[in-house]
Amino acid sequence: MNYMIDHKNKMIHNGRFAGDYCGLSQIEDNDKEHVSTQSTVDMLVNTKDYEKCSYCCGSFIPGFIQSVTESKTE
Ligand SMILES: [Zn+2]
Repeated sequence: MNYMIDHKNKMIHNGRFAGDYCGLSQIEDNDKEHVSTQSTVDMLVNTKDYEKCSYCCGSFIPGFIQSVTESKTE
């Protein structure tokens, strides 16, 4: 698993599904960190009050991604 950490907003994104709808374009490169270790993510969530992004870490990912893709092509 590949994660993208937004240290400014204390948000954790799923590197595979994260996109513009997560507001990634508004995050500066200095605030981003790519992490591939589950234990690091768990540590941030459990001890640093980081949250997992509901857009790209939610269980509704496939349908949501599809609707976003479709709306972009209109
Ligand atoms: Zn996200």
